[in-house]
Amino acid sequence: MLDQVEKILIDEEKLKARIQELGKQLTEDYRGKDLIVICILRGAILFTSDLVKEIKLPLSIDFMAVSSYGSSTKSSGVVRILKDLDEEIEGRHVLIVEDIVDTGLTLHYLKENLLSRKPASLKVCCCLDKPERRQAPVDVDYVGFNIPDEFVVGYGLDYAQKYRNLPFIGVLSREAYQ
Ligand code: 5GP
Repeated sequence: MLDQVEKILIDEEKLKARIQELGKQLTEDYRGKDLIVICILRGAILFTSDLVKEIKLPLSIDFMAVSSYGSSTKSSGVVRILKDLDEEIEGRHVLIVEDIVDTGLTLHYLKENLLSRKPASLKVCCCLDKPERRQAPVDVDYVGFNIPDEFVVGYGLDYAQKYRNLPFIGVLSREAYQ
């Protein structure tokens, strides 16, 4: 598996340090608020589980699954809810936790959908952002790392459902998907 990773973009140490910073910031920003963290399955599971440990506040965690790329490396722009929230979010402070924002189409859809449920506030925290590729206008409130336009795997991110368990973010070699 490792020989299909061309290079390591963000190693474990850097991820850990940045997540501690984000956790500190979120702890300050959400103090005294009814916070619900929404982990977007499946890509955001590793990021969410590390991030919530650094938010030193009472909070709830819920999950949502949306369709993304299937097993190709380009966005189709079509978003479907595969699993909805179990909890109500009306009047609560909602933080969407995403693995990566690329075209922004998924997040744009998600934000519109969740806003219609009348949360007290709605913000987004993503581990990775590829701002060059944006097609939909979305505000991302907390960003772990801005990265260039390369297809990355690891730390929750997959290619054809593999590589999610790599502890770092890496760039997949072209041979792995061509
Ligand atoms: P968007 O709708 O912003 O184009 O894409 C969001 C989703 O596409 C992400 O949640 C992620 O599942 C997938 N995605 C976007 N870029 C990458 C990438 O470089 N690697 C992987 N593995 N998935 C990506």
